Amino acid sequence: MDLDIDAESAAFRDEVREWLATHVPTLPSMDTAEGFAAHRKWEATLADARLSVVSWPREYGGRDASLLQWVLFEEEYYAAGAPGRVSQNGIFMLGPTLFAHGTAEQRARILPAMARGEQVWAQAWSEPEAGSDIAALRSSAVRTEGGWLLSGQKTWSSRAAFADRAFGLFRTDPAEQRHRGLTYFMFDLRAEGVTVRPIPQLDGEPGFAEIFLDNVFVPDADVIGEPGQGWRVAMTTANNERGLSLRSPGRFLSAADRLVDLWRTQGQAAAARDRVADAWIGARAYQLYTFGTVSRLAEGGELGPESSVNKLFWSHLDVGLHETALDILGPDAETDQAWVDGYLFSLAGPIYGGTDQIQRNTIAERLLGLPREARR
Ligand SMILES: Cc1cc2nc3c(=O)[nH]c(=O)nc-3n(C[C@H](O)[C@H](O)[C@H](O)COP(=O)(O)OP(=O)(O)OC[C@H]3O[C@@H](n4cnc5c(N)ncnc54)[C@H](O)[C@@H]3O)c2cc1C
Repeated sequence: MDLDIDAESAAFRDEVREWLATHVPTLPSMDTAEGFAAHRKWEATLADARLSVVSWPREYGGRDASLLQWVLFEEEYYAAGAPGRVSQNGIFMLGPTLFAHGTAEQRARILPAMARGEQVWAQAWSEPEAGSDIAALRSSAVRTEGGWLLSGQKTWSSRAAFADRAFGLFRTDPAEQRHRGLTYFMFDLRAEGVTVRPIPQLDGEPGFAEIFLDNVFVPDADVIGEPGQGWRVAMTTANNERGLSLRSPGRFLSAADRLVDLWRTQGQAAAARDRVADAWIGARAYQLYTFGTVSRLAEGGELGPESSVNKLFWSHLDVGLHETALDILGPDAETDQAWVDGYLFSLAGPIYGGTDQIQRNTIAERLLGLPREARR
């Protein structure tokens, strides 16, 4: 591929850089009610500048920017130290799913509010007995007039304590097994029959929630794809979570730059030099790999099981990078909250979006063609 940035993309990048230089706020943690509200407001500020979903069509609040331009936007966003995206589950996972499988009515109704942070979405996939093996889920939906009644329990739903709506899979055909007979629903977290119970994290903040559903009515208009075809729809969401959208190279390029600065200012310990270089090279390699993915998609390709390679790579890059930072800081690490928080969150990378072992199974079976693991 051609690695030169075209003039239009370079001008776009400059515009983003200039805008961020004068607008980036410092916000409290989005895992608190106050911080969540502040992050929601930031989404509206981004949307006013048409910077919240740059690669989406204009009619939904975007700019029709190319995927390459989106990657450049992300680099600038992280380099500027801009706030985490409270809308990430919506704009990076449900949004692409609606573009692939939603109806025109669903896109028109849901995407503009998502782009402005007016509706913040939670992912309601995991259940107490179904994490890695999501096809083992037990939550169900039964037909009723004009829609469905949802029942069951979801857990580990990030930001569901404060979010407005959620998306998840429910079994609609009890006669079918595992991946068959599942349907993909969107539902209101404040609907009658929904109980959201926050789960405090190690730091005491309610970053997760359990969601209990008891005969919650969902209209047919909030089913994505055909009833019974939920697994296929869910794979689009999962590929975006693992593949391109959720963790763009900008995040790791900016962290690697901060690591190099840290090493320079902390005595340039010879023992850490190779690890710092490895982290920087890893971030740059991920950037180049992403340019390759973007080119493939621009030529009509699709995100497939390759996204598992992506996820495995960035999650380990992130852990190694933060471990190196803490080793450089030594005893001072305790007082450097940003690196400590980053380190603790990096440890979750090999778990959420499918654990390392699950990514390796996918790579083995679907990319390398090795025999399938025995299922119980
Ligand atoms: C920070 C964070 C945010 C999250 N956010 C959300 C969210 O917003 N929405 C949501 O729905 N979920 C969310 N999750 C949950 C996450 O998706 C699950 O934790 C994950 O899928 C693993 O499921 P589990 O915890 O049930 O572990 P289990 O599936 O019980 O796995 C336990 C261990 O067994 C291993 N294992 C399981 N099956 C296999 C196998 N077939 N082969 C080899 N090894 C195997 C796993 O790799 C793991 O090491 C989040 C998790 C974290 C940490």
